[in-house]
Amino acid sequence: MSRFFSIQHKELVPYTPGEQPTARKYIKLNTNESPFPPSEKAVAYAAEAAKHLELYPDPTCGALHKAFAARIGVSPEQVLMTNGSDEILHFAFMAFCDDRHPAAFADITYGFYSVFAKLRHVPYTLIPLREDFTIEPEDYVGLGKTIFLANPNAPTGIALPLEAVERIVRSNPNNVVVVDEAYVDFGAKSAVSLIEQYDNLLVTQTFSKSRSMAGARLGCGIACKELIADLNTIKYSTNPYNINRMTMAAGLGVLDDEAYTRNNCRKIMDTRLFTTQALRQLGFTVIDSMANFVFAKADWIGGQALYEALKARGILVRHFETPRLKDYNRITIGTTDQMKALILTIEECREAVK
Ligand code: PMP
Repeated sequence: MSRFFSIQHKELVPYTPGEQPTARKYIKLNTNESPFPPSEKAVAYAAEAAKHLELYPDPTCGALHKAFAARIGVSPEQVLMTNGSDEILHFAFMAFCDDRHPAAFADITYGFYSVFAKLRHVPYTLIPLREDFTIEPEDYVGLGKTIFLANPNAPTGIALPLEAVERIVRSNPNNVVVVDEAYVDFGAKSAVSLIEQYDNLLVTQTFSKSRSMAGARLGCGIACKELIADLNTIKYSTNPYNINRMTMAAGLGVLDDEAYTRNNCRKIMDTRLFTTQALRQLGFTVIDSMANFVFAKADWIGGQALYEALKARGILVRHFETPRLKDYNRITIGTTDQMKALILTIEECREAVK
């Protein structure tokens, strides 16, 4: 730390992203990326856009807002595209949280929420998940705080039924409820259908997972136009050109290729089922997941030991050290071949510990 670092940020512990190794080629099942390449249309549109990188991108992101809004059945004033969904989540902490509107989220959820809260000096409450890692909706009913709900949750993959989400939104009319739907395309129900009805609901989504565009950084918020206007005030006060030309074009390309996205989601859901069953046969407890990953622990090896054994054999998964999570690993669903390789490697590890 330099002697110039702002006193406000000295205590900040930044978010730790999953490993992105370059030295060795791993089967990468650690950061919930798609195993499939981006849509060919996304690549072609981005290549065309690259020819005009001398010009700033459209700060209103007009064409992409229009195309995405049409795709999900809302109006363009009800959406805001951002640099990954991390950016819209950060905007939400800036726009809708303060001393009078403290934040609340689960004790086990996406690790960035507490980092944003600390960065923005927002007081926050952690709400414990039940023993089985599910959310107790009752804990959020009438809470009177700005609520952040990852649905499906990470790293568990458990989804809250839409009725429970609606109950939470309805019972907190004076606070914004942010429903983070980064993983919604793998089987859960979206709350987007509720934005006409509730002016306190912000849904966030991403192109990083189901649309194979983690490297492009494209996310979005969907809400009533007044909430979107607030988020735009934050955007234009921080980074008006938050979506670069190539990403904007790639976003239009993938939206033009919806069948490709839907097909990939279906393949991932099928492979998730295969992986869950195969892991259970190998003595794992696997939580039923609605996301593109599974959260699993073995009865014959610890979480850290399995993470290390797999890494030594060329497979990367995500391990968390916190006490309630340390027995588990979060395993991204890759291609069927990758998951077959994972299962074979785990069998090998099991032989090795016998
Ligand atoms: N929400 C959740 C629950 C996540 O797990 C992630 C990242 N993996 C994000 C949001 C952010 O994703 P991105 O910025 O790539 O859209």
